[in-house]
Amino acid sequence: MSRILLPIVFLAVFASVAILRAADQATVADPKQFGRIAQPGVFPDQWINGTDCETNPFGQVHAYNEDLYIIRQSKCDSYEAPFLYLIFGKDAALLLDTGSFGFWPVAQIVKEVYDDWTERNGVGRIPLIVAHTHSHGDHTYGDFKFRGIPNVFVIPPTLAAVIQFWGFEDYPNDQTQIDLGGRVLDVLGTPGHEPTSISVYDRRTQLLLSGDIVYPGHLFIFSQNHWADFKASIKRMWDFTKENPVEWVVGCHIEMGADPFESYKYTTVEQPNEHTLQFRPKILKKILEAANGQGVEPSCEIFDEFVIHPVYQCGITWNG
Ligand SMILES: [Zn+2]
Repeated sequence: MSRILLPIVFLAVFASVAILRAADQATVADPKQFGRIAQPGVFPDQWINGTDCETNPFGQVHAYNEDLYIIRQSKCDSYEAPFLYLIFGKDAALLLDTGSFGFWPVAQIVKEVYDDWTERNGVGRIPLIVAHTHSHGDHTYGDFKFRGIPNVFVIPPTLAAVIQFWGFEDYPNDQTQIDLGGRVLDVLGTPGHEPTSISVYDRRTQLLLSGDIVYPGHLFIFSQNHWADFKASIKRMWDFTKENPVEWVVGCHIEMGADPFESYKYTTVEQPNEHTLQFRPKILKKILEAANGQGVEPSCEIFDEFVIHPVYQCGITWNG
């Protein structure tokens, strides 16, 4: 997309979605309350995990509840097997990430959920915003499948576009809000794994979507000068949970087993004993303590539910 077209698309999105930025409006739309979840949800007992490539579908669509969907790309299609999040408000839908390289028909999978939801809710063709937790290829590869579809707006995975679209004034230190229509999301800048990373908090379900900075697996750090950002972002997220009720922290991959310290090597396809996708928010404190314990220079180390993995020290397929 050209630089000239970009603001036009943003204008179109802003105009049709009526994104609210004012904190007071946001508070009215969805009060934050500890001890009460406006719309709870459930996780599946097990995700498709690469152990049955004969029968596994390309993607597993899971309704966390009737207005929020978690979609996992099959390990058999891409060993990355990322998780995508599709969130509906009455004025717009948000898809976070488009998946990895592979053959899965991600746009078709999303369209089926979108068609079903919009029909069920009688809202017409609300805009679909396609944005990203961060710019890595296993989260953005499928973007091209969404481009050119009417009413679908793909936000480019660049820092400038991320800052402009979400409305950051001091990325990553400030927080922004977006209202999808009766559904407010708070957006945090969380670089460290990658410099355009965000985490998204959904007030309605109290899920904190953490991208690749927190998940049960290899927390990859690609450069020494990202380490301070990583620690600051984890602290930012942990501090956020003190002010905001977080039920679960959910990331974009699973690379740990259910048993403590059971780590699957990066690129593993068959993961028969996967850890849950979801963490309780105290995982942030555990990661922060682990990271602070390593000091100014991170080292490759397997912890019970995650791996601190500075790639530039031990290589990407290191596993203990
Ligand atoms: Zn990544």
